[in-house]
Formats: sequence, C-alpha cells, structure tokens
Amino acid sequence: MQDFDELVGQEHISTTLKNAVKKDSLSHAYLFTGSRGTGKTSTARILVKAINCLNRPKDGNPCNKCEFCKAITAGRFLDLIEIDAASNRGIEQIRDLKEKIEFSPAEGKYKTYIIDEVHMLTNEAFNALLKTLEEPPEHVIMILATTDVHKLPPTILSRCQRYDFRLGSENEIRDLLKNITKKEKIKIEKKGLDILVHNAKGSFRDALSLLDVVYSGQIESKKPDEISENEVRHVLGIPDSTMVYYLLEKIVLNDKIAALEMVNEIDKKGVNLQQFAKYTILMLREILVQKMQGKLDLEEYSFAKNLSTSEIITLINHFLVAERNLKNSSLPILEFEMIIGNVNMNEVVKKDEKVEKKVKKKNEEKEDRVVESKISSKKSNLDLERIKKDWKVLTNKIKPANGHLFAFLESANIISFDESKLFMEVPFQFHKDRIEDPKSRDAISIVCREVFGDCFAYECVVNGKMASKKKAEASVVLRKEPTKVKEKTKTRKNSSKDIEEIFKDM
Ligand SMILES: [Zn+2]
Repeated sequence: MQDFDELVGQEHISTTLKNAVKKDSLSHAYLFTGSRGTGKTSTARILVKAINCLNRPKDGNPCNKCEFCKAITAGRFLDLIEIDAASNRGIEQIRDLKEKIEFSPAEGKYKTYIIDEVHMLTNEAFNALLKTLEEPPEHVIMILATTDVHKLPPTILSRCQRYDFRLGSENEIRDLLKNITKKEKIKIEKKGLDILVHNAKGSFRDALSLLDVVYSGQIESKKPDEISENEVRHVLGIPDSTMVYYLLEKIVLNDKIAALEMVNEIDKKGVNLQQFAKYTILMLREILVQKMQGKLDLEEYSFAKNLSTSEIITLINHFLVAERNLKNSSLPILEFEMIIGNVNMNEVVKKDEKVEKKVKKKNEEKEDRVVESKISSKKSNLDLERIKKDWKVLTNKIKPANGHLFAFLESANIISFDESKLFMEVPFQFHKDRIEDPKSRDAISIVCREVFGDCFAYECVVNGKMASKKKAEASVVLRKEPTKVKEKTKTRKNSSKDIEEIFKDM
C-alpha cells in the first residue's frame, strides 16, 4: 500500500487525512485503532510520506517518487522512528524518545514517531509519553496504533485525534481479492475465493497474504495462474469438503457405526480435527441459510432435505461446543464421538430414510445385475496405459455432475488392469463405498464408453498407507496432485446430463 487511495475499506479515514495534509492542518498526535490487518501502520507510513513529500500532488497523496518518499518506503528515513511497544516494552525507549524529541528533524519537515501496539506500554512509559503529548514540540508528530484501545489511559486518549479502522465486510474482502486477481491475471475458482474470504475474517491484510500463500504454494503446477478450490484447500491445509460432507451425512442418517469408523479414519490420518469441526460448522451454516431461504440445493445437500431448521441448529451447537473444547482437548476424537453419541435425528428422518434405503437396495440389486451383465459379456480392448493416460479426462467429465465422486476418483491410484477389470487404490473405506455404489458404476460406465469407447468393471482396494504417507498434508488426503479443471456448463455433453440424472437423489 503506497498511497491513501489504496487503503481499501477505510475511505472515511483516507479522505479526512488527505484533506488534513492538503490544508496542512495536522494534529500532533494521532491514534489509529482497530483489529489487526486493517491497515493502521500502513496508513501511518503513508501519512508520514504525505507530510514530508517533496513533490506532493494536489490530492494529498504522497508522490512515492521523491527522495523522502523512497527513503520512507525503504525504511531508512531518519525522521521516522518506529517503536514496537509489544517487543520493546518499558520506559527506556520512551525515555530515549523524550530526550531526542527536542532535536529538530534531520532532513524532513517533521520528526514522526509511530508507536505500534501502544497499549503494551507500562504505566511508567505511559506517563512519560503523556508528558510529550501534553507539550509536543512544533516539529513532532506522534502516531499511536493499537488493537486494544480500551487498554489506553483516558489521559492519552483525550490528547489524540482518533481514527477507527474497521474490518472489511465479506463483500469488500471479496472485491479486493477479485480486483487483485484480475490485475494479476489469476483465475481462481469461486469456492476457492470463498475460502480465502472466510479465512481472512475481515482483515484486508490477511486476505492478501492468504492469496499470496495460495498463489506461491502452487506455483510449480502447470497452470500457476489458475487456482482451483482444491489447491486452496491443499495449500491452506483445509479439510476436503467431501470428508466433511460424508461425516455429516452419516450423522444425519443416524448411521452411527459408519460415522464412528469415519471419525476414526480421519483421526488416524492426522487430520486437524479443530479445522474439521470448523468446516463442518460452515457447511451446516450454508445448509441452514439455504433451508431458511427455502432453496436447499438438493444436488449438493440431499441428506439434509428432511432436516428441520431446529435440527440443523442443534447440530451446529454440538459442533460449536466441540470446536471450542478441541482447543484444550487431550483426546480430540472424543469430541466427535460424543456428538455421534448425542445426536439423534427425529423419527421422521429415520422413517423416510428407511423407506428410501429399501427402494435403493432393490434398485441396486437390479442395477448390479445389469451392469455386471453388460460388462462380463465381452473382453475389453483397453490396456492399463491407455486408462491411466485418459483417467483425468474421465474424472473431469464426472465433475460437473458429482463433485464428490470426482474427488474420490481423482485421488485414487490406478494399480492394475486385468483382462477387463480395473483395480484402484483408495485411501478410505468410504471412498470405496462411494465409488462402488451402483449409481457411481452407472455414471462411470457412461463416461467410460464416451472416453474409451468401451466400459470395464472395477474394484477399489483400501490402502491406509496411501494417506498416512502424506501426514504433513493429512488434512487433504483426498487429493494427490493439484489439478486444474475448467469444465464449463455450456461444454457439457448429453452424457453428463445422464449422469446428473443418476445422481439427482444421491
Ligand atoms: Zn514524495
């Protein structure tokens, strides 16, 4: 950030400061308060530049080209003294300040002090500072910055011109990121952007550094200027949404055994359970909001269709408690096990699901036979190499219709192709279950025929080591390599519509 106009979200401050600079009506003491990452110290430095600038434009901004502006940017301007009260506590530095403050500026118009985290000063230091604020020399400007304004003595507060820096709204953070990515010609998937916006928690600085981390974290990929949701998750160590989805599904459907198994697996792989709880809450929040708006996305959250809003809220409460407890828990998995033990979805959901399951089972039996007969009747002309080569093409065709199945297939290791059967390794049992589900089989065989002109049977082998090998990135065990997938709706072929049909009520 080099001038006032780049100060996003704090226009109320930048306008006032620019006017003060223009009219040369400066205060001797400024107080910048607000959460971290809202631009307090950056603004302080811009203000110092603007008041010392040798070639200041009429609008009150610094020129950023003159000798002084450059020196301030480089941190070598003699008349700018920055004190970090958090790291150099105590009276010594302020005493030092008191002695030196009487001297005229070495080169600039003003001698400026920026005292960051000023609330960390001791009482003695505050008293020393107060003396300076009571009778400031003409050539001195003090800029105090703090995140905890309530910790400052009223005597200090009353002598400063105060500016409150506010956190950005989700939309402002999103706009900021959109502008930057547009400028830098970086494409980022909407859901990836959502994750950045959410994790920035209103801090403009955090938003920018998160984008930076994600961008540089995947720079070795083939298309570094295209960032997918998966890459964002990968780089930030955020659990894959499919894991969150399936645990929630098991809990909602009252399948306690499967839910416990899943939690156990997740824990074994070293996934950060606090992050996991956080993302479960986020998913539930989305479901709750959609439900209240009467537009639940059934393709995405079919398991939630019979949940009442109060049931969703109950679930959210359980996970909120877990998230809090996880901070100090010596046995994190217990928090999840307790949720599974505590939550009992009402009878309506259960009954409904039972009926569905029966119907599903009947259909499955039928479909199984159909698929098996279709496949066993002939041997394939395909070979392992060909399948490996075009696996990505296949998974990409699945993606628009079913993101979860896509993620599972994408993370699978193709191991062998025997006669007409393909074997693949997957890291979790629930991956196997889902990939081998009759509906998945149908979808895969349709796409198979499209890609390979033929279809084949397949089987998944669960390999626990597959995930634990990558313990460092355990929270993203579902994916192996960064992938760039850009499947636009308009390029969808009829086959993906068929697949969509299959997954409609999954
Ligand atoms: Zn300048």
